[in-house]
Amino acid sequence: MIICLLAVMGLSSCAGFETVPADEFASRLAAGNVQLLDVRTSDEFNTGHIPGAINLDWKGTDFVQKAKAELKPSVPVALYCRGGRRSADAAKALVKDGYEVFDLKGGVLAWAEKGLPLEDVYGNEVDIFTTDSGKEVYVHAMIHATMYIEYDSLTIYIDPVSRQGGREFLYMSMPKADYVFVTHEHGDHFDRNALANMTAAQLITNARCAEMLGYGIVMANGDVLQPRDDIKVEAVPAYNCSPGRENFHPKGRDNGFILTLDGLRIYLAGDTEDIPELADVKDIDVAYFPCNLPYTMTPDQLVNAVNIVKPKVVFPYHFSNTDVSVLPARLPDTDVRIRKYQ
Ligand code: ZN
Ligand code: ZN
Repeated sequence: MIICLLAVMGLSSCAGFETVPADEFASRLAAGNVQLLDVRTSDEFNTGHIPGAINLDWKGTDFVQKAKAELKPSVPVALYCRGGRRSADAAKALVKDGYEVFDLKGGVLAWAEKGLPLEDVYGNEVDIFTTDSGKEVYVHAMIHATMYIEYDSLTIYIDPVSRQGGREFLYMSMPKADYVFVTHEHGDHFDRNALANMTAAQLITNARCAEMLGYGIVMANGDVLQPRDDIKVEAVPAYNCSPGRENFHPKGRDNGFILTLDGLRIYLAGDTEDIPELADVKDIDVAYFPCNLPYTMTPDQLVNAVNIVKPKVVFPYHFSNTDVSVLPARLPDTDVRIRKYQ
């Protein structure tokens, strides 16, 4: 009776294990003394899992046997999958074997919806967004201004660099690029060594980078490109407007990009300040704004930029040593997510 009453409250179930929402799941993990188990396939796990999880595929052979070999019988087990079905099945199986179990309501999709980060096999933080027709978009935060996006079996790199902030990326052993965007020629955005691994991809950039490379699709500020029915690219201005800083990124040379994937609009601002043209950037779901001096914006300028563009989710990026931890409190109506974009 008590157990079933708890089930009605959404805290427990009559099957002998609890199904808890993402916030509660996160706080239980943070409290410790729990074994975290991802029961999806290894491919799903590698793309993005909850940090600290071990992976055992529920649909693989001998799940229970393998679980018993991995898990201590005396420590509670936290289970999750993509949407909650496989974890519920796995939980039932483990309860039969005497484990104390709880699982994540709505799986990693519910976890990501709350802005809680996942981690990929390379150690990058991952966010998941959903497009108009329900496709998933995975954004892998690499470093500074560098990320890659997975959408509909495509891999899209943004300003790929091999070395930055003490980290090194071996693109040879990373997902193969289908599209590459390079906003401008500076070394923290443009890296011939990284691009050498991506020559089979479509490279979309500005005139200067295409000239330096001898290839690439050139977009100028204001240009629009539609490489597929479901993918639209808009090149937008990115420049310095503060007196004395104009030469870092002169007006008209470099690009920001708005990437629309099946209706999901992602704004990659590039190296820019809070320029007047931000007023023309509309209907943005996810925005990336730079935040470092002297090259881009101060936190004050970033707050101003967010208030103009009004994205649903904002990521400060390209922030080097700037203290961006002040931003969530200054943007209480925006989902501000801080990833390792130093
Ligand atoms: Zn730059
Ligand atoms: Zn830069």
